[in-house]
Amino acid sequence: MDTQKARCAECRTEISIPATYAHGDHVKCATCGTRHKVVRSGEAVRLVLADTGPLKEALSNYEMQLSRLEAELRAARASFGVGVPNGIGLGVAYAIWQVGFRDRQISMGLLWEVVAVAVLSGVLMELANYFFLAKRKAMSRLSQEIEEVEAEARALQQKIREASRV
Ligand SMILES: [Zn+2]
Repeated sequence: MDTQKARCAECRTEISIPATYAHGDHVKCATCGTRHKVVRSGEAVRLVLADTGPLKEALSNYEMQLSRLEAELRAARASFGVGVPNGIGLGVAYAIWQVGFRDRQISMGLLWEVVAVAVLSGVLMELANYFFLAKRKAMSRLSQEIEEVEAEARALQQKIREASRV
């Protein structure tokens, strides 16, 4: 068997693996100094990380990041759209009360009040819409970040499993 080549798990540099290196032997990357274990299966040769310590550390960082993001998402969901439409409801109730229960005549004065209520409702609706969209955006950004971190964590777990099998 001749010298074979495999890539460094860290920096992807090609590393030569002489035939004398058996399954489980250690080999160091000349470029970044990362230590690997040789994995032989039949003719094929692969390298896995010899020291999974940094991977496990990175994984627990991801897990901490993940629980922080999930807490943020829960908080965003909990405060979602609470109380915002109440202002609009109050404006409408005011108009109904003025005409219906206080027997107000349709006059210029009432017309101006109705216009004021309409403008106020419009502003409130715009505000509600603005906050609604902002919150929606924050929630979808958080969900996306969570997915990315989960994918990174899965990739790390896979690497750790591979490395600990040798
Ligand atoms: Zn390397």
